[in-house]
Amino acid sequence: MITIADRLAAAQQRIEQAAQKCARQTKDIQLLAVSKTKPISQIIEAYEAGQRTFGENYVQEGVQKVTELKSRYPDIEWHFIGPLQSNKSRLVAENFDWMHTISRDKIAQRLHEQRPAQMPPLNVCIQINISEENSKSGIDADGMLALAESIAALPNLTLRGLMAIPTDTDDIAQQSREFAALKACYDLLKDRYPKVDTLSMGMSGDLEQAIANGSTMVRIGSAIFGAREYKA
Ligand SMILES: *Cc1c(COP(=O)(O)O)cnc(C)c1O
Repeated sequence: MITIADRLAAAQQRIEQAAQKCARQTKDIQLLAVSKTKPISQIIEAYEAGQRTFGENYVQEGVQKVTELKSRYPDIEWHFIGPLQSNKSRLVAENFDWMHTISRDKIAQRLHEQRPAQMPPLNVCIQINISEENSKSGIDADGMLALAESIAALPNLTLRGLMAIPTDTDDIAQQSREFAALKACYDLLKDRYPKVDTLSMGMSGDLEQAIANGSTMVRIGSAIFGAREYKA
């Protein structure tokens, strides 16, 4: 039987090979295990295989997992990577270590105000939409710097970088164009904000391309936990 530990090792190996191919160091690319829709038992299995960072998409589900696991596994770092409605921002501010999908000033302000004083600043990424589909969430490249400036003024948030979900396509050329555009945005941001060190892009299907284009954090779900079953 193929275990989660086997799949994690295989994903790590893909990262290592992709890094080697473009003369990057494996240690500069973090693997975020995306555990959305998966039971707590599988998170523990991944933890026992050495995984310490987990990404969740749905607020309620994520908070439930954090609440259940945080006293027994205090060294897990929790990342919120899903769309967030402003009326649920408090739950993210109070439970997560990272938030990847800020694309509006209003959400940034709320997260700052709602971050509990005894917790370290919330690490945040701006979600950029460079995809050629209009349906994706995220701010466009032009709005990025203005949003970065307002986040930088909020002491309870630390701006760590950019996140993106490129177009889901088999067209390698388009994929490359999108990843390269993201990398250019990232370089611009990194130039202005010294704490920026994270380019969150790449998933199970495209991590090699993402790494070739400078990704520092790949978000891997199905390659580790298997396919997801969605409730309609
Ligand atoms: C589900 C999800 C992932 C993981 O996708 P896989 O293709 O299963 O690796 C990564 N990022 C985001 C934002 C997701 O929603």
